[in-house]
Amino acid sequence: MNMDDTARIEELRKAIRHHNDRYYREDAPEVSDAEYDALFKELVALEARHPEAFDPDSPTQRVGAEPVAAFGAVIRDIPMLSLANAFSGEELLEFDRRTRRFLKTRGISENALDQSGYVAETKIDGLAIELVYEHGKFARGATRGDGTRGEDVTSNLRTIGDLPMQIRNGPALLEVRGEIYMTRQDFAALNRGRERDGEPVFANPRNAAAGSLRQLDPSITASRRLHLWVYGTGRVEGAAIGSHSEELDLLEGSGFPVNRRGIRQCPTINEAVDFYREMDAEKEKLPYEIDGVVIKVNDASLQKELGEISRFPRWAIAAKFSPDQAQTTVEDIAVFVGRTGILTPVAFLSPVVVRGVTVRKATLHNQDMIDAKDIRVGDRVLVQRAGEVIPEIVESLSAKDGSTERGERFFMPDRCPACGSAVKRAPGESAHRCAGAGCAEKKKRSLRHFVSRNAMDIAGLGTMIVSALADKGLVTEPADFYRLDRETLAEMDRLGEKSADNLIREIEKSRKVSLSRFLYALGIPHVGEHLADVLARRFRSVEALGNASEDELMAVHEVGTEVAESIRRFFASQEETKSLERLLREVTLLASETKSGNVAGKIFLFTGTLSMPRALAQERVRKEGGNIAAGISAKVNFLVTGEDPGSKLAKAKQLGITVLTESEFIKMLDEKN
Ligand code: NAD
Repeated sequence: MNMDDTARIEELRKAIRHHNDRYYREDAPEVSDAEYDALFKELVALEARHPEAFDPDSPTQRVGAEPVAAFGAVIRDIPMLSLANAFSGEELLEFDRRTRRFLKTRGISENALDQSGYVAETKIDGLAIELVYEHGKFARGATRGDGTRGEDVTSNLRTIGDLPMQIRNGPALLEVRGEIYMTRQDFAALNRGRERDGEPVFANPRNAAAGSLRQLDPSITASRRLHLWVYGTGRVEGAAIGSHSEELDLLEGSGFPVNRRGIRQCPTINEAVDFYREMDAEKEKLPYEIDGVVIKVNDASLQKELGEISRFPRWAIAAKFSPDQAQTTVEDIAVFVGRTGILTPVAFLSPVVVRGVTVRKATLHNQDMIDAKDIRVGDRVLVQRAGEVIPEIVESLSAKDGSTERGERFFMPDRCPACGSAVKRAPGESAHRCAGAGCAEKKKRSLRHFVSRNAMDIAGLGTMIVSALADKGLVTEPADFYRLDRETLAEMDRLGEKSADNLIREIEKSRKVSLSRFLYALGIPHVGEHLADVLARRFRSVEALGNASEDELMAVHEVGTEVAESIRRFFASQEETKSLERLLREVTLLASETKSGNVAGKIFLFTGTLSMPRALAQERVRKEGGNIAAGISAKVNFLVTGEDPGSKLAKAKQLGITVLTESEFIKMLDEKN
């Protein structure tokens, strides 16, 4: 083997291991799946050319990554494997030919495969999970980990509404395999909230689902809306399964969610190729993301005959879709200032349609990313849209071509584009920040955050009004909102007396606020809604939090060095504490509402006519970290009954589910506030 190939193999193995850690262990990939797949494919090809370089530790021979030790380990007898990949219909036909050739070597005629046929399923882009049921009861569940050793996430799984706690006629042992996922809508809402809270956003629904399930605190998982589809089994004792379709029927019959819309029986590989193409065309219409389809040989005895090689079974293949990319030009790069002073560079693009959606902007994240991809104004670039993810620039084609006619390299400004103050970058941080204490843009954004819905919740104080109040010098710090009078407000552009009255009423109402909302409203960098809730429960007053030592802060599970430092910096700042003192004279802090009470993690179902709209009741449950069941089953914890409850009530009684009247339900929610 020449030196170039040896070095490249080592380089690829190292890079792929690194990306595996980022993806499987940290739920924060650095490169797109398409880029990762390209590296992987290159390594597979090089290793095939050089059998002497075989290494059982190569990522091509292994599944996933080492489980993270903080979760307990679950060891399984039948490993959870990966899948071989195909990237086109042609490669699926090759899979069929390969399967036939292999069966022939075993003396099995082609007829057997023709009779068995294939089952094609959408490949949900989520996180693989194995659920273990003992005599029908959910006993434990774990991630795939490295295939044999998974991470124990049982308590977190219990918070997921789709997951049955008890199944009908369960055999002695049933290991069920499936995918935990997040819908596009819930993913977008989660990221909006994180962006608002100054927390890093998830790259895609798959990472959001994985990051939400792989939490050491189940209440965080409970506060995210996760779903489950199941598609297979591991070890089964006490039931015989003759084919994959029988397996799906058994699972569905036992009360597991099986994604029937995304499954098709395919007598021959041609139907499977059709399914692959149809799903590629339809995928944007689904409420969740899929990254391909999985084709499986249906007959269980043929599956057994085919067996597996290193990291995947021979009887199944994942046909992946090619990513949605297009070429366009960077027209400009602009820099925006956020509430915490972070400057974000954004590329403005010549509008380009990527799978039906016009893309005009792409986030560039920070200087490091711009440098790594060498993106400049005027460059031809490749943009990629993956589902709900903010479009990103995959690469600069001008940089790749070595084009000489290029613009200047881009550097973050050394002065804030909004206020002209110095811009600083702390050692080890990728973000540049505006250091100006009086930056008007930063101030406006933090004032707007203070009154926002999940903070002080002052309805009517939108971005425009807050900005106008700030421009007029009427509000320079949060306490000023409480000193506004009706006359001043009524004179504001577009406000008028009625709106001014309403605003005053809303402002007055917000004077009584829970500690957790208040802490969130303060806008301490890194203290998002969930952390504010945790800190409120732990410290119980602003003073106690302000006086907490670094060790005391770090003793809170969710707090790391960076967050502890940020809290300490906030309370050490004279400016912040003076403004806080003035604010505390205006508001009354109530004992904190917490999300760990009766509702979090519990599953509710409603029946009959309630006095409030059912959607509102459901929303309140979700807000408190509970889940809504799709139908009556043993996994439901509470059935809330309105007038004319219907058949669900009798069924609930049969199943021993707690039944609540509407007023009991409201009391349960109110007790927590
Ligand atoms: P895979 O995702 O290609 O296929 C195996 C997985 O498919 C299973 O574990 C299961 O979770 C899932 N699946 C979904 N629906 C299924 C169904 N109906 N039946 C069976 N399985 C189903 O393989 P993998 O080993 O999990 O991951 C490799 C892929 O992950 C790569 O191709 C890449 O796309 C991505 N990845 C990306 C990075 C990155 O840095 N971007 C890093 C590592 C992996």
